Amino acid sequence: MTTDMRELLLSRIRDVSDYPKPGVMFKDITPLLADPAAFTALTDALADMCARHGATKVVGLEARGFILAAPVAVRAGLGFIPVRKAGKLPGATLAQAYELEYGTAEIEIHAEDLDGDDRVMVIDDVLATGGTAEASLELIRRAGAEVAGVAILMELGFLGGRARLEPALRGAPLEAL
Ligand code: AMP
Repeated sequence: MTTDMRELLLSRIRDVSDYPKPGVMFKDITPLLADPAAFTALTDALADMCARHGATKVVGLEARGFILAAPVAVRAGLGFIPVRKAGKLPGATLAQAYELEYGTAEIEIHAEDLDGDDRVMVIDDVLATGGTAEASLELIRRAGAEVAGVAILMELGFLGGRARLEPALRGAPLEAL
């Protein structure tokens, strides 16, 4: 991705302070989604990562990961698989719990969507603590597939997500645009 493209994407991300609670700087990607040039550039860059790392499927993390991963899957000619919050998928699921700042959360995947031949690229908008991405890698491996990588629009470096994710990556790439 060129410097101009990166500047374009950055200019379309809105910082919203104290949302959804005091002390949090929320990274709002809705201006980027509303700009076809920026959304297309982002989709192309993420699809390129899928190609470079030999992905056969794209996993999007609920909810903004769905918005980014679905057009990437279409552009890259790959299947899209949702990883959802617990209780939302109707079929037989695998579930993975993970730690939040206060309490725990659980995400699920349809077990039948992946098999041993798959290499999966995980896509989301923001890497914060890394907990959600870490749990998704666990789900992908438990479903029998390989991890091709994790592709993120923005990494909030000060939260240490990359370090938390490192062991679970097992050498697979984590790329933040
Ligand atoms: P984490 O599991 O802590 O890495 O959190 C990642 C998930 O929470 C992603 O799906 C993000 O969409 C969302 N998220 C966390 N922090 C922020 C933030 N400051 N701005 C926007 N989204 C965030």
